[in-house]
Amino acid sequence: MKSIVVATKNRGKLKEFQEMLRDVPLKLLSLLDYPAIEVEENGKTFEENALIKAKKVVELTGRAALSDDSGLEVEALGGRPGVYTARYAGPAASDRENIEKLLKELDGVPQEERKARFVCCLCFALPDGRIFIEHGYLEGYITFEPKGSMGFGYDPVFFVPELKKTLAEAGLEEKNSVSHRARAMEKMKKHLLQFAKSIHGSGGAVLEDSGN
Ligand code: IMP
Repeated sequence: MKSIVVATKNRGKLKEFQEMLRDVPLKLLSLLDYPAIEVEENGKTFEENALIKAKKVVELTGRAALSDDSGLEVEALGGRPGVYTARYAGPAASDRENIEKLLKELDGVPQEERKARFVCCLCFALPDGRIFIEHGYLEGYITFEPKGSMGFGYDPVFFVPELKKTLAEAGLEEKNSVSHRARAMEKMKKHLLQFAKSIHGSGGAVLEDSGN
């Protein structure tokens, strides 16, 4: 079975990738298998960051890489924290510190103005230069206090109307039925399956984005 490297050290994300790609015949390695690899995310958009991560991991491992750059856009904050979602409360901020900062910034903002969305940009980069990019989105609201203990990141304060609960109150399977990452992955799966089936994985250098 062919291997690819998931460009993350985030165990929560990795768990989601494993669950979403259960039926894809690829062995999933991750940066937990390559602890020395550190990638600086200095792009200005989710796409730039996903591309930076995937290309760097291909360069350093010689293997195909699947990266995700994701984040939260809050309407009342003009789309912030956006690409700074992971570092919202500082460079080494914990999930709890980020959530505290978000709730503080939204202090006094009523329910109907707490609209937010998660954005996910996935990038699959092959050693032969081919690159595939896909996006996924999840709309919801920021709650007034954290609820639930599953998931990771901002899950406890992200209320999903379709589920009638926060992402941290939803099980992994339930989260993966609606999440931004799962929606992007549904589109990415065809490229992963093609790679899994191909003998050499060779081809021209093209940038593909289904654009939806
Ligand atoms: P990245 O790892 O650089 O892509 O940063 C993503 C940031 O968005 C981290 O702070 C995550 O906690 C947050 N994030 C991304 N996806 C999710 C999710 O599914 N649930 C909760 N937080 C998320």
